[in-house]
Amino acid sequence: MTHNIHITKATESNVSKLDFNNIPLGRTFTDHMFICSYEDGAWQTPKIQPLGMIPTHPAAMALHYGQAIFEGMKATVNAAGEPLLFRPEQNAKRLNFSARRMGMPEFPEDLFVEGLKKIVDMERGWIPPQEGSALYLRPFMYATEPFIGMRAATSYHFIIIASPAGPFFTKRIKLYAETKYIRAAEGGTGEAKAAGNYAAAIRPTEIAKSKGFDQVLWLDAHEFNFIQEVGTMNIFFKINGKFITPSLDGAILDGITRKSVITILEDNGYEVEQRPIKLDEIKEASANGTLEEAFGTGTAVGIAMIQAIGHKDEEIHVSDESPVGQMVMDTINGVRAGKLEDKHNWMVSVVA
Ligand SMILES: *Cc1c(COP(=O)(O)O)cnc(C)c1O
Repeated sequence: MTHNIHITKATESNVSKLDFNNIPLGRTFTDHMFICSYEDGAWQTPKIQPLGMIPTHPAAMALHYGQAIFEGMKATVNAAGEPLLFRPEQNAKRLNFSARRMGMPEFPEDLFVEGLKKIVDMERGWIPPQEGSALYLRPFMYATEPFIGMRAATSYHFIIIASPAGPFFTKRIKLYAETKYIRAAEGGTGEAKAAGNYAAAIRPTEIAKSKGFDQVLWLDAHEFNFIQEVGTMNIFFKINGKFITPSLDGAILDGITRKSVITILEDNGYEVEQRPIKLDEIKEASANGTLEEAFGTGTAVGIAMIQAIGHKDEEIHVSDESPVGQMVMDTINGVRAGKLEDKHNWMVSVVA
């Protein structure tokens, strides 16, 4: 089905003001936004219009009760300059998974993908061409109904904004295994991409940074031993030639990079086990020399190589190089740039 997206073009573009060699992370936005309102039990006419402020009622329920969810994905260009999306239907599905958990209306998945394609096509001049760079896309939904009271809102906005992002030259990171605060427990909202999950993570992340670490490694809510994930990334370990990653237990976000990395590793002949992983097991592997690599996976950063994990007063050394992690990163970037074969049909052209 094609939807009738109502388009109002910006009178001029700001793209000429962007220095593509020095893109300020997360602070520059493209000329337009996609916006659709939910009123009277239905999604109204979808629009693409110049990016701008949105009037918000002070009683808007998202501000008080936190019905707010989001997605994150990237558009890249191939050698011919054609804009491509990476598995957008996966983000559409996950947004609706999050929406159901948070008592919010689902957004039509075909319109989600069509809106993305349309806005990326319009903003193609904003997509940084270097491999590893991308136009970051942020679809999100929040409750707009002005109401003081505890129930699901009856009106929402679904919006897509876009922000160019340069290549991440990440250094090897150090994680802090958190033993006081938790991110999520089974039955909570950890498996939804809900804004509130991040609110609860901000303070612990600041504490970890003040101790000299880059990110928090979240542990389970019961024993503070089973590994969940990292800040905005899922996590993989390579022990004795084999990969392991925590199984999706109801508290972990089902990352699209995670599932793509599992496929890439298996394509390259590696075994990948999804199962509960204790920090004790990682400690032991580090001590006996079988811990070969560890990396985080997520859309924003791609693959982040892990050097060490701090736990209480100990530092668990992981490794100083990550050849397989690097191969996985090069594979994802190469497929996104249209330079490597897209074996699994992950890339979606934004033009029909
Ligand atoms: C978004 C996110 C990830 C990574 O998911 P991708 O789909 O790979 O970008 C991992 N953990 C959390 C908590 C997240 O919010």
